[in-house]
Amino acid sequence: MANPIQAIRGMNDILPTDTYLWQQVESTLQNILQSYGYSEIRLPIVEKTELFKRTIGEATDIVEKEMYTFADRNEENLTLRPEGTAGCVRAGIEHGLLYNQIQKLWYQGPYFRHERPQKGRYRQFHQCGAEVFGIGSPDADAELILLSARILHKLNLKPHVSLQINSLGSPEARAAYREKLVAYFTTHQAQLDEDSLRRLTTNPLRILDSKNPALATIIQNAPKLMEHLDSESKEHFQKLQHYLKHAGLEFTINPCLVRGLDYYTKTVFEWVTTELGAQGTVCAGGRYDGLVEQLGGKATPALGFAIGLERLILLLQQVEKNLPAKQIDAYVTSETDDAFQKSLEITDQLRDRFPGHCFVLHCGGGSLKNQFKKADKIGAQFVIMMGEKEFSEKSVAIKSLRENKPQEMITWNTICDYFKDKIS
Ligand code: ATP
Ligand code: MG
Repeated sequence: MANPIQAIRGMNDILPTDTYLWQQVESTLQNILQSYGYSEIRLPIVEKTELFKRTIGEATDIVEKEMYTFADRNEENLTLRPEGTAGCVRAGIEHGLLYNQIQKLWYQGPYFRHERPQKGRYRQFHQCGAEVFGIGSPDADAELILLSARILHKLNLKPHVSLQINSLGSPEARAAYREKLVAYFTTHQAQLDEDSLRRLTTNPLRILDSKNPALATIIQNAPKLMEHLDSESKEHFQKLQHYLKHAGLEFTINPCLVRGLDYYTKTVFEWVTTELGAQGTVCAGGRYDGLVEQLGGKATPALGFAIGLERLILLLQQVEKNLPAKQIDAYVTSETDDAFQKSLEITDQLRDRFPGHCFVLHCGGGSLKNQFKKADKIGAQFVIMMGEKEFSEKSVAIKSLRENKPQEMITWNTICDYFKDKIS
């Protein structure tokens, strides 16, 4: 036998035992986003490498070491998308969606980063993202954050996550702060690790995001961006907090929350959990007022977030005892060829009458007894049986496999009615 080929490390198959939960989560997200007036946008998985370099930033983890980049057959430099905002902004400009209008978009799909695979961190993962274009005022920040809160609430995850917010200010305020930060960390250079030393010259704000416990104290004592915000950003952040408090949403201000992408301005936020080990961020986002212009569009304020679906689902599996499971309402069996042909018809009638439910018709023959065993094994609620005798009497025998009740004889034309109050 030939050696079986295995999947690429960090790129997972999502198996039938899990896809039902994925579908439920995806449809919850989609319903909520649509109910807030967001429209779906579907974007390519591959983009020009330049797009990500220009948006995410050259000196970020993603661009420096995580992108799947390759030359295609025409020697064009392409990259498997590591995140969604860049492509969304690119498409928005390209199709004139962002010009003098408010645009609310959502998308969902696979993303790729060459990271070290571990629980909650994969090389192919999935995000559901939402982006709002054309509103610069903090009411939009508040509504977006409240939308993310509603998603978590609907999934019963609210008790397991907490909201952190911060403001990164204007690019000018951040540049001035950057100098202060470099001066501070330079005086503590001896204590920095290799990563932070490199970031000191490339992207010093990212040092604040270091997970190295040895750096906790110097990071704690570093100058805070919050104290160097420009007045507009300060006011924006105050207003956002006011809205969130008024809406009854709890949050903490985390002055070290800087996010791993360069394009953010003003508001940034994350929903974090302590229940998934080191991979604790399930949803992350913020404002990126400069990005549309930076990519060649007209200056357009914008903001958005992305939810990591694997982490969301891991968390659900960890904390929810009663996860929705796929249910087979009835398994339809038959003893003879004539009975099979009638069963085909009846099973379709049931499917028409009870949309969203599941009726499985037995194929492959075998004794009624073996077919019955199969119905039980796959977890059907009911088994519908049509032996020779039932066929001759234009009826079926129906037995509940989950409740201890005697089997009943039901005529063909009343089968659908029989299930009316038995199928919820
Ligand atoms: P982290 O700090 O965990 O590396 P990040 O800041 O790189 O996250 P973003 O780029 O903001 O993450 O992506 C948004 C969300 O997508 C994250 O909060 C997380 O839930 C999810 N995510 C990011 N990278 C991965 C990955 N490699 N595997 C699974 N989920 C991921
Ligand atoms: Mg990351």
